[in-house]
Amino acid sequence: MRAAVLVEPGRIVVQERPVPTPDPGDVLVRVSSVGVCGSDTHYYRHGRVGSFVVEAPLVLGHEAAGTIVAVGESVDPSRIGQRVSIEPQRPDPETEETRRGDYNLCPHMRFYATPPVDGALCDYVTIGAEFAHPVPGSVSDDAAALCEPLSVGIAAIRKAGVDARSRVLIAGAGPIGIVVTQLARAYGATEIIVTDLDPARREQATRFGATTVLDPTVDRLGAEPVDAFIDASGAQSAVVDGIRAVRPAGRVVLVGLGAETMELPVQVIQNRELMLTGVFRYANTWPTAIALVESGQVDLDSMVTAHFTLEETAQALDSDRTPGSVKSVVRVS
Ligand code: NAD
Ligand code: ZN
Repeated sequence: MRAAVLVEPGRIVVQERPVPTPDPGDVLVRVSSVGVCGSDTHYYRHGRVGSFVVEAPLVLGHEAAGTIVAVGESVDPSRIGQRVSIEPQRPDPETEETRRGDYNLCPHMRFYATPPVDGALCDYVTIGAEFAHPVPGSVSDDAAALCEPLSVGIAAIRKAGVDARSRVLIAGAGPIGIVVTQLARAYGATEIIVTDLDPARREQATRFGATTVLDPTVDRLGAEPVDAFIDASGAQSAVVDGIRAVRPAGRVVLVGLGAETMELPVQVIQNRELMLTGVFRYANTWPTAIALVESGQVDLDSMVTAHFTLEETAQALDSDRTPGSVKSVVRVS
């Protein structure tokens, strides 16, 4: 099979590799679409993301969909031919975190495209059968792949407690901010305020359901507090302004990855008894993601701004530099 391999920072080479054999409990998936994520681009340019360092050739890509073409021992062979969205994680079933349902926090997690685990920018991948989620025919390959970033948004929106009549503030209108915006609308939020430095991104946010968009360098947040603030920017100033905008007993969800340490307005958090949490990927989100896409409440296809072939993986990883780019997809097959 072909695999687009990151051989050193800034260099992707398409290599021939053997098709993997599914282990017991796994399925073999022929990859159709793979979304390009900011973390893929970061590995490509810098050879590392935080403490994860690329020390050997690595296949990038963790937003993937495809068709099951073979199954390992103990997997129902009638699944062959099923179109699936891949949840790109392999938790250890024996750890305490996995057992209590927080499997995203499993300390022995093996996650696609996170060194040393290869990702999906290749013709075939294996994944645990229960992490290959069947998608209905009405959900496109691209949308099935983008159920991954949608899942990050679902994890965030759940922690933010968004429901009908919520007022929500979202900082950052990249792909994550846009899915959170769409989810806030789907969950019934009546006010969805989105901030971004980039006017093109603010315009995207409006298209996908923001009721107000603000430029944080010139606009002030309104006087009326919000029920929940979700940061999808990672910017210290956005986090501080966002926390200050939340009502007493409201919620703050930090999704964006910025500096390792950050100054926070602790007295605001205390005096208002704010609930503040981080988000680390997701657990148990795929059925929700697929249902929201199938019902049309979330539109992932319209977020795709460019397509590439597997041979064009390097261009795909650099496509965030194209003005107006939201999400690029590599069509592997
Ligand atoms: P992105 O870089 O495309 O989007 C971030 C946006 O924030 C940009 O549009 C940028 O203009 C905007 N921004 C920067 N400074 C700002 C400010 N002061 N105020 C408002 N907006 C500002 O990234 P993305 O793919 O949308 O992901 C968003 C963040 O979420 C990233 O930091 C990413 O690493 C993180 N992330 C976290 C998880 C998780 O599990 N916690 C998962 C996926 C992504
Ligand atoms: Zn991602």
